[in-house]
Amino acid sequence: MTESIVDLRSDTVTRPTRAMLQAMIAAEVGDDVLGDDPTVLALEAKVAALLGKPAACFVPSGTMANQTAIRAQTEPGDEIIAHGDSHIAHYETGAPAALSGCGIYPLTGVGGRFTARDVAAAIRPRRTWMAPSRLLVIENTHNRGGGTVWPLSLFAEVCAEAHRHGLAIHLDGARLFNACVATGETPTAYTSHVETVAVCFSKALGAPAGSAVAGSVETIDRVRRFRKMFGGAMRQSGILAAAAIHALDHHLERLADDHRRARRLAEGVSEETSGFTIDLDSVQSNMVYIEVDERIGSADTVCLMLAERGVRMAPMDRQRLRAVTHLDVDDAGIERAIDVVRTCFSTARSPS
Ligand SMILES: *Cc1c(COP(=O)(O)O)cnc(C)c1O
Repeated sequence: MTESIVDLRSDTVTRPTRAMLQAMIAAEVGDDVLGDDPTVLALEAKVAALLGKPAACFVPSGTMANQTAIRAQTEPGDEIIAHGDSHIAHYETGAPAALSGCGIYPLTGVGGRFTARDVAAAIRPRRTWMAPSRLLVIENTHNRGGGTVWPLSLFAEVCAEAHRHGLAIHLDGARLFNACVATGETPTAYTSHVETVAVCFSKALGAPAGSAVAGSVETIDRVRRFRKMFGGAMRQSGILAAAAIHALDHHLERLADDHRRARRLAEGVSEETSGFTIDLDSVQSNMVYIEVDERIGSADTVCLMLAERGVRMAPMDRQRLRAVTHLDVDDAGIERAIDVVRTCFSTARSPS
C-alpha cells in the first residue's frame, strides 16, 4: 500500500471538499459580465462587508486582484513603493510595468516589513522630472518574508505616513485572514487603513480559484473595467463564487490549526537534523522557510530527495525551500514530513 503524498509546496494545492463541491453544484448562476450572477453578487457583498469597504469585485486570481487594483489607482509613469521581496515584484511576471506602466521602488526590511521612516524616505519630491510616488503596496502575511505578520501598530503607522504624503495604499492580503488569526485582529482593523485590499480564496481558504478586491465604489468600478480588459471577466462564475462563500463560512477558524502545524513542523525539522536552519521567530502563520546548507545540497536537490519519499516542499531560492500547511495536511502528515526529513538528514549521519 502506498501512503499518500504530503504536499507542502503551497496552500494552493488543496482540493475542494465534498461539501464545497456540493455548494458549487447547488449555486444559482447568471452571467456576471452582464451583472446578474446572484452568487457572485452575494460573494461580493459578503466580502465588502467583511473587509469594511463599500464595494468588492470577484476576480479569477490573486495576481489579477493586485494588478487591477494597481491599474485602477495609477497611471503610466507612476511609481509604486513596495517591499523588494513582495509578491508583486517577484511572482507577477513584471505586470506592474507591463499592464500599468509603473516602476517599483523596492524597500528592504526583515520579514517583508518596513517602517514609516522607510516610506517617507522612498517618496520622491514632486518635481517635473521625477516619477510621482503614487501607491504603497503592503503584503500581509508576507510570503517571501516567511508568512510573517504585520503588527497592527506598525501597519497603522506606515499607512498614516503614506497618507500624509498623498499616496493611496493597496493591501495584498492574499493571506490576510491568516494574519488576523495570528494576531487576533479583525480584517477591518487592517483594511480601515487602506484604499484597496485583495484577498485570495484559493490559498489557505481552500477554494479551487478566485480572489477579490475591495474598495470604494469608484475604485471598484475601475477594477471591474480592468478585470474585463485583462481578460478576467467570467460568465457563470457563481460556481466559483459559491466555493469562495463556502470557504469563508467554513474554513476561516480552522486556519489556527495550520499555524499550529507549521510551528510543529518547524520545531520538528529543527531538532535532530543537520544542514537545515529555520528562523523560528519568522514562523508566524502557515509557512516554514528552511535554509539548506550547501553541504547537503541545493534547495532543488533536497526537494527531490524528499519528494522521492512522499513529501513535497518547494524550492524558493538556491538554498531556501518552503513548506506550507493547509486544509489537506493533518497532524499525521506533519509527523510524516518530520520523519522523512529526519531520516534523510539526521544529525547522526551528517558529514562533520
Ligand atoms: C499567491 C499570492 C498572490 C496571488 O497569486 P495567484 O497565484 O495569482 O492567485 C498574491 N499575493 C501573495 C502574497 C500571494 O502569496
